[in-house]
Amino acid sequence: MGIRVITDRCDGCGLCVQSCTYNAIEIKDNMAFISLENCTFCNACVPACPTEAIVIKVRAYGNTPVQDYKGVWIFAEQIKEKEDRQGSQPCKGQIHGVVFELLSKGREIALQLGVDCSCVLLGHNIKNCSSCLIARGADKVYVVDDKRLEEFNVEPYTQVITKLVLKYKPEIFLAGSTSTGRVLFPRVAARLKTGLTADCTELDVDIEKKLLLQTRPAFGGNIMATILCENKRPQMATVRHKVMKEAEFNDKRKGEIIEAGVQSALSASGGGEPLPSRTKVIKFVEDLTQQVNIQEADIIVSGGKGLGAPENFKLIEELDEVLGAAVGSSRPPVDDNWIPYSHQIGQTGKTVRPKLYIACGISGAIQHLAGMSSSESIIAINKDPEAPIFKIADLGIVGDLFEIVPELTERLRKKR
Ligand SMILES: Cc1cc2nc3c(=O)[nH]c(=O)nc-3n(C[C@H](O)[C@H](O)[C@H](O)COP(=O)(O)OP(=O)(O)OC[C@H]3O[C@@H](n4cnc5c(N)ncnc54)[C@H](O)[C@@H]3O)c2cc1C
Ligand code: SF4
Ligand code: SF4
Repeated sequence: MGIRVITDRCDGCGLCVQSCTYNAIEIKDNMAFISLENCTFCNACVPACPTEAIVIKVRAYGNTPVQDYKGVWIFAEQIKEKEDRQGSQPCKGQIHGVVFELLSKGREIALQLGVDCSCVLLGHNIKNCSSCLIARGADKVYVVDDKRLEEFNVEPYTQVITKLVLKYKPEIFLAGSTSTGRVLFPRVAARLKTGLTADCTELDVDIEKKLLLQTRPAFGGNIMATILCENKRPQMATVRHKVMKEAEFNDKRKGEIIEAGVQSALSASGGGEPLPSRTKVIKFVEDLTQQVNIQEADIIVSGGKGLGAPENFKLIEELDEVLGAAVGSSRPPVDDNWIPYSHQIGQTGKTVRPKLYIACGISGAIQHLAGMSSSESIIAINKDPEAPIFKIADLGIVGDLFEIVPELTERLRKKR
């Protein structure tokens, strides 16, 4: 990648300097100079220049033109049996819930672009999951069923997925922002020499330009940035769990299952080699501190710094108990070791979408809202009438949580 100023077009107007947030451009002798040390190739200066004097050159991967890439792909991540289990529909408890969310958004985007929405499923004895993915909206499922892929191991998975992408050329490829997605997708993107937007909270599409609009919090969560991948394919993004609605299950849907065996996946570039890896999975050990699955709760009562001390989480727990709710937290109580990280909600914690979210002593910082603002109903209890949480609350109670929460618990207890 390279950037340069076409000297006979530049009149030194300085508009590009204002557009560059990385201080990479200065005007010397009526001419723009770009420092390659500071330039991140963000592209902001190119449209800002009225004389089209700034050019960024991008090398396309291989010789395949971007317009030859077609279709939306979703990585169908699987989960360990106990995790995320709910409902009686097939594959609940086997396929990660974020996949069903991506299927809903991926299908919407695929329909807008007039292409197929497909899933990529790797593992062993997983073919039964294909029909479930079709019932949730996949037009095609590329299945690689092999004993060697039974446990997730990033190197073989990267190798197989990269070969599949090179063979079938999807234009968009999505995965959940789970620990698996976060370790797998950057490697796949690096191999394919394409861009990746991690941790998106919103996806949309520019139908005319066929560009995926990938939105995520940036600069410490103070702005929402929409990122484009204009010159490389596929356009890759990982998306947070619980920011989108799940696709409905409809077992009448029809789709195609493509059995892409490991060998055929690997032989796309003439290989047929085994699955080399520098790591070996010895045993799967569940992290017991991450047992709390607040992402599946219908009601969450969260406590913030306003609780004042760790022992005051007792008030939250008592209200939780009468409501059958889960305990959430803002970041300060987690930072101060009042409550484990698995309860943290927000930009650097979990994203939740319960039917009811009760925020007690939480101010409503943008980083907290990033994790709970799509809750169906929000009740906020705060003694500060100006607290930002009231702007998104459906019901706001201005007052002391040490009076309101116990009173609420008591009244609900009597109603039971
Ligand atoms: C990169 C980055 C990532 C971050 N990620 C997250 C994240 O994932 N999650 C998150 O939550 N934060 C996150 N933060 C921190 C965030 O910016 C805020 O600092 C945090 O959300 C504030 O938590 P709080 O509302 O509990 O505390 P405060 O902002 O201190 O608010 C406490 C509130 O309690 C109220 N209060 C006090 N006493 C009482 C009382 N007796 N009764 C009623 N109300 C009372 C006060 O009026 C106040 O509004 C992040 C910050 C950064 C920079
Ligand atoms: S905006 Fe264009 S013409 Fe103006 S200084 Fe920058 S490169 Fe030169
Ligand atoms: S590409 Fe971005 S970082 Fe580089 S000079 Fe232009 S605006 Fe600045």
